[in-house]
Amino acid sequence: MTAAALTLTTPIHDLPDAGEPLAAAMHRMGLRCVADLLLHAPNRYRRTRPWQSLSQVAMVASAGTKDDMEVHGEVASVQRGFGRAAKIEVVLEDDSGDIDLVFFNQPWIQRKLHPGMRIVATGRPREYRGRVQIANPEWRRTEDDASLTAPSGDQDHVAICPVYPASEDVPSDRIAAVIEGILDTAVALLEDHLPESFRKSHGLPDLATAYRHLHRPELDEQVSSARRRLAFDELLLLQLGVMMKRFHRRTHLRAAALPCSDEVQSRISARIPFTPTDAQARVIDEIGADLAKDIPMNRLLQGDVGSGKTVVALAAMLQAVAHGKQAALIAPTELLAEQHARTLRSLLTDATVRLELLTGSITGTARRDLLESIASGEVDLVVGTHAVLTQDVAFQELAVAVTDEQHRFGVHQRASLRNKAADDSRCPHQLVMTATPIPRTLSLTIFGDLDISIIDEMPPGRAPITTTSTDRAGAADAYEGIATAVRRGERGYVVVPVIEESSAGLTDLETHLESLSMGPLKHCRLAAMNGRLDVATRDAIMEQFRNGKIDVLVATTVIEVGVDVPEATTIIIEDADRFGLAQLHQLRGRVGRGSRPGRCVLISEPTTDEGAKRIAAMVETTDGFKIAERDLEIRGPGELFGSKQSGLPPFRIASLPADLELLALARRDAIAWIEQDPLLTLPEHALLRRRLLKAHGRWLGLGDVG
Ligand code: ADP
Ligand code: MG
Repeated sequence: MTAAALTLTTPIHDLPDAGEPLAAAMHRMGLRCVADLLLHAPNRYRRTRPWQSLSQVAMVASAGTKDDMEVHGEVASVQRGFGRAAKIEVVLEDDSGDIDLVFFNQPWIQRKLHPGMRIVATGRPREYRGRVQIANPEWRRTEDDASLTAPSGDQDHVAICPVYPASEDVPSDRIAAVIEGILDTAVALLEDHLPESFRKSHGLPDLATAYRHLHRPELDEQVSSARRRLAFDELLLLQLGVMMKRFHRRTHLRAAALPCSDEVQSRISARIPFTPTDAQARVIDEIGADLAKDIPMNRLLQGDVGSGKTVVALAAMLQAVAHGKQAALIAPTELLAEQHARTLRSLLTDATVRLELLTGSITGTARRDLLESIASGEVDLVVGTHAVLTQDVAFQELAVAVTDEQHRFGVHQRASLRNKAADDSRCPHQLVMTATPIPRTLSLTIFGDLDISIIDEMPPGRAPITTTSTDRAGAADAYEGIATAVRRGERGYVVVPVIEESSAGLTDLETHLESLSMGPLKHCRLAAMNGRLDVATRDAIMEQFRNGKIDVLVATTVIEVGVDVPEATTIIIEDADRFGLAQLHQLRGRVGRGSRPGRCVLISEPTTDEGAKRIAAMVETTDGFKIAERDLEIRGPGELFGSKQSGLPPFRIASLPADLELLALARRDAIAWIEQDPLLTLPEHALLRRRLLKAHGRWLGLGDVG
């Protein structure tokens, strides 16, 4: 193939430098064509200085260097080090002097290296206890008759070599060779989507230069400016997408304006049986201000478990009802929908508001009647799950929709609830509630289209929760603890990971209930609770637990969301390392909801490092924000950004929170850009728009933006 025929879509197997087996192996890494190669960013760079004599190496080392160096010499001695068993010390010498090579955890080196052998070793030299040493160098044998005199030349020249993400079949240097072969031709084909004036004012290199420097830098500054340009591109495209979406929502969609008079305000306040915390009062105001406008609200309400989000939701929904319109509350599970309905009913005792619970188990005529009264507007407030409410329900006029996400960490697909009048531009005000604090970095990106309200304060009088962890041997004490609490008139939960006995050897509900009821908890009244029970049975059990006829619920994670029984003070979580951190935090939130102190006991024998870290984080803190940050650390932002839940393509170059400043810049630019040319329809923005839709059109649902 001639260079002239090369395009960005040329398959790798057509390249002269890549044979069929190599192309196939690269294909398995997701590298198919020339463009994929350009986009395959090095994950680091190795800086290597050329071969120098050992005395020169010593000088460079004593000056302190970050560079690798190549050294040639003859092995003078090989010894096992003292102290740590797996340490081999090798002295390497040439005509000018000698240095030490130290190999940790590579005992076989003692058999491979012998005095008199000539080798080349590469690594970073440093001074250690008055000697110069290279730890864990890479090395290979050279010919025995090779000269040991370093060639004279530019001693300060440093080669910067990209180290690529590689696979077992394709090492980094093979990838480097293929990329080197296409680089100059390929970058010349790149069209830049950023106008030159914009690039200049931001001090960003053009796209061709950026890719050339990414793969073949000569200076460190070239690496950083290439990365800056490419990271900025990723962040800018994302922010443009988010802002375009926001523009569409604010200009093309309309919601009912629900201004809140003093009279409405005081009627709503009368429904809240306690003094709201300052934080609750603040977010109720923020939401109220949104609802007063005909621009559809799109707001995320963040507040830790137990921070009191329910009454905030109630206030928002009543603002719709006060205007003769409807509201809906969407819960993640039927159990939680039932509980929300119960809580709201009791808050609305004696009010003229008609509230209905709509679940999958309401069928036949009852269902038909209910749907009719929702369609006619007789029902003011509907509580149900997402599945139920989006299926076949048409509202008379739904003005406020609240989604209780609990701890799901996702991009919020706006719940598409229907009104009877089919008017695509009318939509309800949306409030999404989550107990997962979202680190600021994430909220700016994924949640960039949402306004955010935060409840950062707990209602007064909350008892603290103590968390401990133990292995199986400590389980007996934990059960004894729950039995003691029951004797004091308290209640508790024992949570297990699975319902039925499974091959994984995890504690299962049925077996565990039996062994607890015959052993440590034989004086307690126990009941099993899991997601497979029908609603009536579940209801009955919850009712008995709530009014104290059952002491301990042995349950799966069905109880993780929202179950609110203030007398429950102890929760034991079996095989705790099997649960996610957010999930553990939610489960723990089931206790300490009253005035008596809560206890959470995590029983586990972690088999993975991550499992152990999750347990440690739980013991360390009860602060939801800290838990979320720890979760981000343990799982890594890559997983969150690339997660199926978010549907967001992962960044290749940008990395958060490291690139936070760049993100802020991109966001400011995106806002200004969209203000000027909201749908990027100007001819000079055509390429940018194409790239934006390609990267984010699908997951952001920008199709309807045109
Ligand atoms: P979450 O944010 O987890 O949904 P809830 O709304 O269920 O929290 O509130 C947790 C508990 O705290 C409930 O029993 C609720 O009645 C109570 N609560 C909420 N706000 C206050 C407050 N300002 N003062 C006292 N109790 C409150
Ligand atoms: Mg709640």
